[in-house]
Amino acid sequence: MTTKAQSYLTHFRNIGIAAHIDAGKTTTTERILYYTGRTHNIGEVHDGAATMDWMEQERERGITITAAATTAKWKHSGSGEEYTVNIIDTPGHVDFTIEVERSMRVLDGAVAVFDSSQGVEPQSETVWRQADRYGVPRIAFSNKMDKTGASFELVLSDIRERLGAIPAPIQYPMGQESDFKGIIDIVRLQAHTYTNDLGTDIEVGEIPAQYADKVAEMRQQLIEAAAEVDEDVMMKFLEGEEPTTEELVTAIRKGTIDKKIFPVLCGSALKNKGVQLLLDAVVDYLPSPLEVPAIKGRLEDSEDTREFPADPEGKLAGLAFKIMADPYVGRLTFVRIYSGTLQSGSYVYNATKEKRERVGRLLKMHANSREEVTELKAGELGAVIGLKDAGTGNTLIGDGDERVLLESIDVPEPVIKL
Ligand code: GDP
Repeated sequence: MTTKAQSYLTHFRNIGIAAHIDAGKTTTTERILYYTGRTHNIGEVHDGAATMDWMEQERERGITITAAATTAKWKHSGSGEEYTVNIIDTPGHVDFTIEVERSMRVLDGAVAVFDSSQGVEPQSETVWRQADRYGVPRIAFSNKMDKTGASFELVLSDIRERLGAIPAPIQYPMGQESDFKGIIDIVRLQAHTYTNDLGTDIEVGEIPAQYADKVAEMRQQLIEAAAEVDEDVMMKFLEGEEPTTEELVTAIRKGTIDKKIFPVLCGSALKNKGVQLLLDAVVDYLPSPLEVPAIKGRLEDSEDTREFPADPEGKLAGLAFKIMADPYVGRLTFVRIYSGTLQSGSYVYNATKEKRERVGRLLKMHANSREEVTELKAGELGAVIGLKDAGTGNTLIGDGDERVLLESIDVPEPVIKL
């Protein structure tokens, strides 16, 4: 049961973008920030062009996404409802494996970006296994559809064969390589055609006849995948009936959250194609903080555990996951609040360091601005200024609350199936 106080959480998605180096994680993240910033003027930058300029400047200086967690807003193109999408930076290099693991702990879902001309590369496999161990639901983005050698089918078969997972093709590309001109939505049976080179003008219409066979094949694969995880779709499938769009979305969402199936999308981040549909899919298929298992904490000096469901009115439970030095404000401690509400100027107890600490100011980081807030609620991520002792992986709880340590991020050696 969701209480009134928790209701905002249905419109929250805390996600990471994971990829093999060079698959296009940075480009995809930038485009996401561009689209989310364009529809929502945040801070002093008031239009999309300026957001892009800012990104170009950052890029020239060799910095891309500097915040460990960036808060963005997205209006779903189907429902028109607004969602808060927190993007948690996941390091993309294999040497940062422990950092990847840390970030996995604080996200509820991930977008796995693949280079569609390469399929599933070895390092993507490593990241995939890490996400498996942390139980992170995923959607896959088959990027670089415009590149020579791009093949959506290669990505689908690699997901099946190399990752041993069930791909749910929710899209199909219209044209590949230099001829990539649009995306067919296999769930809603619509064609999205890009009518300018920038990828910003999109025409939504009927599926061109030349794709009918391919679409039928993909739809069959999709329905079979959905039927595996949903009885209603299974019944219809057995009776040769078509599920409704709503039934299909519900089934795919359930299967994705249970990590049984993995929706696969396609696009070209570089050419601005597919990114808006990707954001819609984040909302459609990845879980809200209410749909993931509650984080557990272990009582100090005991085997007893406590659960902290996402609830702003619950006891405070937060995890520091990244420390950054900021030239203006000093030490920034990035936290995810799982339960309760963290107030600026309050005292918290760092259960890992066994120390009481004072919370200074609180910030939410946006793509091109930072916003000072007075509180961070359950499900939210932000940065704390003023914590002197907190380190990555430290548990923060209410001062005077029973002492618990949140599930440790020290994990057993990875079990990588080759
Ligand atoms: P990361 O290492 O995963 O963060 O990858 P980047 O986003 O830095 O991209 C690596 C390279 O691939 C850069 O040269 C990008 O311009 C290029 N790239 C990214 N996305 C696309 C795409 O959709 N199509 C093509 N052709 N190139 C892309």
